[in-house]
Amino acid sequence: MAMHKIPGYMIYIGSLFALQGQTSLKEAGITHILSLLRGEIQPRLVSDFTHKQIELDDDDEENILVVFSECIEFINQAITNGGSVLVHCIAGISRSATICAAYIMQKQRMSTEQAISLIRRSRVIVNPNDSFREQLDVFERDGFTVDEKKEGYRRWKLKKDVELATASGTAPVLNSYSASSEVGGKSTELRCKKCRCPLASANTVIRHEPPANLPPPNTKAYYEAVKMGPYKTTVGPGMVSVIGQSCMHYFLEPMRWMQPELEQGRLEGKLDCPKCKTKVGSYRWQGMKCSCGAWVTPGISVQRGRVDEVKPFALPRA
Ligand SMILES: [Zn+2]
Ligand SMILES: [Zn+2]
Repeated sequence: MAMHKIPGYMIYIGSLFALQGQTSLKEAGITHILSLLRGEIQPRLVSDFTHKQIELDDDDEENILVVFSECIEFINQAITNGGSVLVHCIAGISRSATICAAYIMQKQRMSTEQAISLIRRSRVIVNPNDSFREQLDVFERDGFTVDEKKEGYRRWKLKKDVELATASGTAPVLNSYSASSEVGGKSTELRCKKCRCPLASANTVIRHEPPANLPPPNTKAYYEAVKMGPYKTTVGPGMVSVIGQSCMHYFLEPMRWMQPELEQGRLEGKLDCPKCKTKVGSYRWQGMKCSCGAWVTPGISVQRGRVDEVKPFALPRA
C-alpha cells in the first residue's frame, strides 16, 4: 500500500506513489500534504490540497532537526482544522517516519522507540536512518524542543560538524564557544591548579562511559568494582568528581579561552591556561582516547592533574 493511517491520529504516512492515488487521498479525507524530498513534484498531484514541501535527503549528513518545528506546525494546522494530513517522502520509510515520530513524541511525550513502534503498527516497513534516529533522541533529550542553546542539540551539532570536517582532513570552523564564566556559583567548576583561573564549569564537561571491562561476575573483584562504580572519585568533602575514577582527562566543549588556538585550523595541538600560560591540556579533533579506554570525539581535554574541581557554595546568612 502506498500509504497507511497512523493509529489514533489523522495522519497518513506514505511513499511518493501515494500522490498517484488522487481518489484514495480524497476518500481518506486528506486535506494537507507534506512532501519531504528534493526535486519538483507535478503540480497537478498536489493542487487540490494545502501543500508544503521540504527539500531533504535521506542520508547521514542531513540536519532534519532544524525542520521539526515547521513540520509539526503544519501537521497541527491540518489536524486542528478537522482535516487529515499525508506525510510522505520517496519510499515512506525514513524521512516521513522521522517527521511523524517527532510529531507524536512531542504530543505524547514519547520516546523515539515508542513512537516508531506505534507507526510500525500500521506501516511495518518504517525505519528512520541511524542519523535521524539519533536526532530524534536529541529532540527527546532536550524536552521535545529544538534549541541550539540546549545541551543535546549543542553537543550533537558539535559532533556532526567535527565529523564532517575531519572526514575531509580539516579542522571544523566553529560558530560558538562556551563561556567559562557561566559558572555563577552553582555548578562545579574546573580551575587551573597553578593560578586558580576558572577554565570550565561542569555543564561543559562531555561525559563519557568507560568501556565495560568488569571482572567476571560473582568474583570478589567484581563486587569491589561494582561497589566503587565508575563515577565515584571523591575530590573534596561530600564532593564526587564529575569524571570517572580511571579517567585522567576532562573532555570539554570548545571554550572561549581556547578560541585563539582552535581557530588556527590545526587538527591537533596543546591548550595553555589563558592566564598563567601553563599547559593544561590538548586537543585532537578526530577524537582522543581517555585513560579509561573510552574514545571521545571531539577530543578537547584538560588533564586531571592540572586542574582542581571546585564547588562554589553560598555563605550562610548572618
Ligand atoms: Zn575516561
Ligand atoms: Zn593558570
